[in-house]
Amino acid sequence: MKLEDMPKELQRWYSNNKDTASADDLARFELLRTTSSCTATHFHPDEEVAGKLRGQNTAYVDILCNWSVLCEDCQREEDAYWEERWQEYNTGLGLF
Ligand SMILES: [Zn+2]
Repeated sequence: MKLEDMPKELQRWYSNNKDTASADDLARFELLRTTSSCTATHFHPDEEVAGKLRGQNTAYVDILCNWSVLCEDCQREEDAYWEERWQEYNTGLGLF
């Protein structure tokens, strides 16, 4: 997708980091920008499944970690996984 079609958070990451980011980080960004098939290859390793750039329910300081290109099924798995982690986290802090 075009840079201007990307989520604002990622556009901001790019304009702030394009000159200073490592080659690895720029490659990770390009993967998010250009990939159209699900990148959760552990889930369906042999077929190409259409994926979509989606924000994840995570709060990494490394912005790029909070985004993935996933199909509906993998996104559901991810959402369920992070929902549990957050519950553990919040319980650990005694917020429940
Ligand atoms: Zn998938």
